[in-house]
Amino acid sequence: MTTTELPALAATVDLAAIGHNVRVVTERAGAPVIAVVKADGYGHGAAPVARAALAAGAAELGVAHLTEALALRAAGVEAHITSWLHTPSTDFAAGIAADIDLAVSSPRQLAAVIAAARAAGVPATVTTKVDTGLNRSGIAASDWDETADLLAAAQADGAVRLRAMMCHLAFGDEPEHPMNSQQAQRLDEAAADLKRRNVIPDVLHLANSPAALTRPDLARDLVRPGLALYGCSPIPDRGDFGLIPAMTLSAEVALVKKVAAGQGISYNHRWIAPHDTIVAVLPAGYADGVPRLLSERFEVSINGRRFPGVGRICMDQLVVNLGPDGGGVAEGDRAILFGADVPGEPAMPKAVDWAERVDTIDYEIISGIRGRAQRRYVNDPSEEAK
Ligand SMILES: *Cc1c(COP(=O)(O)O)cnc(C)c1O
Repeated sequence: MTTTELPALAATVDLAAIGHNVRVVTERAGAPVIAVVKADGYGHGAAPVARAALAAGAAELGVAHLTEALALRAAGVEAHITSWLHTPSTDFAAGIAADIDLAVSSPRQLAAVIAAARAAGVPATVTTKVDTGLNRSGIAASDWDETADLLAAAQADGAVRLRAMMCHLAFGDEPEHPMNSQQAQRLDEAAADLKRRNVIPDVLHLANSPAALTRPDLARDLVRPGLALYGCSPIPDRGDFGLIPAMTLSAEVALVKKVAAGQGISYNHRWIAPHDTIVAVLPAGYADGVPRLLSERFEVSINGRRFPGVGRICMDQLVVNLGPDGGGVAEGDRAILFGADVPGEPAMPKAVDWAERVDTIDYEIISGIRGRAQRRYVNDPSEEAK
């Protein structure tokens, strides 16, 4: 297959897969989805993913940095957006002006939001991000009373409106771990405590992808998946949950050439051809997010056949062994590095295969695709509506 319409290195994002995955998670969780599109939509492009997720029924959006939320607004996204990772220099005034739900992790952050709201003369929409045991961001137990008092006073005088309460699970990917229920209970207790102070949030949410898919009892009002929306299984041991990978990373075969028996391939000749063979050079390297540690530990799919990587992965390129007969591969053919399966073809390599071989998680693989990889979108629901 020659696909001249794709760039040399392409991260093709199937927006219909995003929509499908939103529906899978919504159904399993029994609750609407806050689509997490932080880190540029886990490397898929935050705004197109946000639009596709909302079109498929996602209720809201979530990001880490406020700058990510403001970028979505600038791209014309009008949905409810919660942003939950702030620093002392975060521009809360800009967040209030853009109607972003500011999830606060300390009384200092809440005080800064209140001050910005008073200065603007506009109430701020806030979420309390409660640390129920992850001990990362979130309001520490020791800061709870001070935060709750401040919130109750500010809500009473109209400076803020509490929209939500949230927390984040430490063991979401171990569904039966007792911490999961404990954390949910602590969130419920914090909500009850605020209620005693006459502050009642509209919604509670805590479930990330693995919890949304396996612990509907934790869902509360909304679930907050990221990974699953991109079609990666948050618990690979439990299968794919019917999710469809949204990103396919593919490269055009740059060069096909003969290598004689005994010749070494790429830097330091880490692979020596055991017999005369034919290799292909692909324009993808570690600067594009293909981990160098993956050298010789991956396969690509070309024309429905698997071929192994050989020799060191370089900054810009890598080499695969086509075998003595060249496997029928020609320059200009398309090699799939990872992606969704194609009906009628053998299974494609997956981001999780790479992750397992380099001792990481597929979150890091998909959010790390960069460099010369150019994004292309297919099955855009907003295009089809036109
Ligand atoms: C990243 C993140 C999520 C999404 O987690 P997944 O495991 O990708 O579903 C949800 N909530 C918070 C607070 C996050 O930081």
